[in-house]
Amino acid sequence: MKNFKIAEPKSIEQVSGLLSKGGEKVSLMAGGTDMLSEIKEGVAEPDLVVDLSAMKELPFIRKNRDGMHIGAMTTLADLASDPAIRSDYPGLYEAALSVGTPQLRNVGTVGGNLCQRPRCWYYRDAKFLCRKKGGSQCFATRGRNKYHAIFGGGICHIVYPSDLAPMLIALDAKVVVVAPGGEKVLPLSEFYTLPSKNVRRENILNPNEFLREIRIPPPKKGERSTYMKLKERGTWDFALVSAAVKATAGGNSFNDVKIVLGGVAPIPWRLEKVEQGVMKKKLSESMIKETAGAALQEARPMEENRYKVALVEALLVRSLLSIA
Ligand SMILES: Cc1cc2nc3c(=O)[nH]c(=O)nc-3n(C[C@H](O)[C@H](O)[C@H](O)COP(=O)(O)OP(=O)(O)OC[C@H]3O[C@@H](n4cnc5c(N)ncnc54)[C@H](O)[C@@H]3O)c2cc1C
Repeated sequence: MKNFKIAEPKSIEQVSGLLSKGGEKVSLMAGGTDMLSEIKEGVAEPDLVVDLSAMKELPFIRKNRDGMHIGAMTTLADLASDPAIRSDYPGLYEAALSVGTPQLRNVGTVGGNLCQRPRCWYYRDAKFLCRKKGGSQCFATRGRNKYHAIFGGGICHIVYPSDLAPMLIALDAKVVVVAPGGEKVLPLSEFYTLPSKNVRRENILNPNEFLREIRIPPPKKGERSTYMKLKERGTWDFALVSAAVKATAGGNSFNDVKIVLGGVAPIPWRLEKVEQGVMKKKLSESMIKETAGAALQEARPMEENRYKVALVEALLVRSLLSIA
């Protein structure tokens, strides 16, 4: 492991200043649960680590008129134990509780969860110079690809591992990004980027930018949400496939539906065709399967991950029927 310096800024301005330093490789650290393993594995080699843990102004959960504001340094444990999150956004409560273990949730933060790096075993192994690390090939294409993408892969088949991201996108969350010239507010759905646009990164943050806050609009009347995650193991694990669903009930059907999958693509993957197909209709297992079947034609599984297609179908049936 390469030696690095550590800085402990106490204000937003200090963080911005440190990230804008030229000439050094700078990495941001929140809880460090993901970032430190990248350093230990030799995948990240920063000269300077900017530790956000002394930033008193970044952990917060505030219910305002325009919805919920969540600071980037809020821990997953605090998110999952907030009564307003649980009552207003049950799917977000479920997503937060589904992450790792209690120890991990006590340290891991919302910002770190949304900006974590992929778990692809070729990317995480310093010996493989894959495209994401500046190499010329994706080793998953012809190698072991059991956990890889079935949608949106193309030149790199990572899956985005965050449990919060699909649910927050389904809830129409926005992110506040601190940039040198000021702040930008953008939908979380526009925060992630496909390998075809930038194979080295998973989001649109420039090296001198960081996430300050997440904002979720207030729930509509009749809004329901759920997050379901299928894992290989009964204990802590990343999602093989997960489904975040938000819908607004109107009579016997849903007026609006948002479905975002995790574990299937390099970014949280929205299933707009399924959303349209199930909206304003009476839900049943057979109609969900039929609607999902048409959308799943677009999946491009590889040799070892075809099973994910069946998991998506099963999860759509389970999650949609559960909120109906
Ligand atoms: C054993 C284990 C199990 C896990 N299980 C799960 C799981 O089930 N589901 C899941 O979603 N994740 C899981 N994780 C991944 C991860 O540790 C957690 O998602 C955690 O929330 C990351 O938060 P952190 O604060 O520790 O991030 P850090 O490790 O500090 O940072 C992660 C990345 O985000 C960047 N970053 C952090 N904060 C910001 C910010 N404010 N702005 C811009 N960039 C930022 C860092 O530079 C780094 O690249 C697991 C990790 C481990 C080690």
